[in-house]
Amino acid sequence: MNRSCKGRPSALITLPKKAVLFFLVTSSIGSAYAAEHVKSEALLSIGRAARVLNEISKNSQAVPDGVLNSTKCIVVIPSITGATVSVSADGIASCREAPDRWSAPAFVKFDGHGIRAHRTDLLVFVLSDTGVRALRSGELQIRGQKRAPAPLVNRNPVTTQLELAAESLTYEVSAGVISNSEARGFIRGDADTADPIPYPVPTKTKDKYLSSVVSFFNTITPTGIVIHHTAVIPGKNRVPRSEREVDNYHRERGFEILCFNRLYHIAYHYLIMPNGRVKAGRPERCEGAHAAGYNSYLGISVVGDFSSEDNPTGANGPITPSPKQIASLIQLCRRLKDRYNIPLQHIVRHSDISSTKCPGDRFPFRSILDQLQREPDGAKPGRG
Ligand SMILES: [Zn+2]
Repeated sequence: MNRSCKGRPSALITLPKKAVLFFLVTSSIGSAYAAEHVKSEALLSIGRAARVLNEISKNSQAVPDGVLNSTKCIVVIPSITGATVSVSADGIASCREAPDRWSAPAFVKFDGHGIRAHRTDLLVFVLSDTGVRALRSGELQIRGQKRAPAPLVNRNPVTTQLELAAESLTYEVSAGVISNSEARGFIRGDADTADPIPYPVPTKTKDKYLSSVVSFFNTITPTGIVIHHTAVIPGKNRVPRSEREVDNYHRERGFEILCFNRLYHIAYHYLIMPNGRVKAGRPERCEGAHAAGYNSYLGISVVGDFSSEDNPTGANGPITPSPKQIASLIQLCRRLKDRYNIPLQHIVRHSDISSTKCPGDRFPFRSILDQLQREPDGAKPGRG
């Protein structure tokens, strides 16, 4: 098994000991009834924010990997309605404490204008330390992005440093589609009222929300394909016999990912067995853990050890991919290429992007690329 690398690089922020929570407390709260009302509204926004993130993860996650990797805090303002002029709406903020750990949901309020759709959710990705400090001190300004729109995968799959230098990037989600937002205004929370907490968020609600946040940041829109061989499972000294064996091995190595609110271990998206059977690894829309810096690429691993140095006589297993494996690989690559509009140049060997022998010198990569370049028999040219 070749060296794989875990998940996204971290965009860590150090939170103070006293967890920072923003609370929306209106001065007009005079009765227990009003307090209860604010409380239930706030708790409702947590549920709504989680649903927004789940929906985007499932359907239209088009925020580039580069942005997701660099995000230090996420603010979700769900269900803004009828906001053509100005808007004041409740939302939820959470900041990254570790690659896969986020701070408890905090209540914030958005006051601003420039929302396009009649009914929309607003998503603010805070990228810089200045942005984090502003949010934590209770007022983050959103300046609108008319000149430099927030990047989307289909337009620019490679995020530029300039885009990542922004303090924050704002997106709108309307009718299930995520797009750049020109909204301007302020995200406000009152950090001073955070201690003592006027009402605790139930653990179940909090956990559900945090699971949605982690899952959201672990989804990808695939932008390429990396081809691997499995090589041998250390300790077993033979190639894996099933996807379960790979899953177990990757579980031991800590390649787990929470995605669509479920846990996966196998680092690859697909495994191709010697008989040509294609076995599913983690779902296509979940970030891989198979190639450092290329985890928005899909990982396909061909069972065998195709390195003449490591497996000269075949003692470790197949020394070249079987014709059935090659046929399956080409078919699978074609399908994924079409599904995600992946250019041929984004289909690479692991060794093309990392210092590894994977998938070995006996792997017929050129001939596979040549075949991919030719349209399959019976395919209509000029499709789409
Ligand atoms: Zn590899």
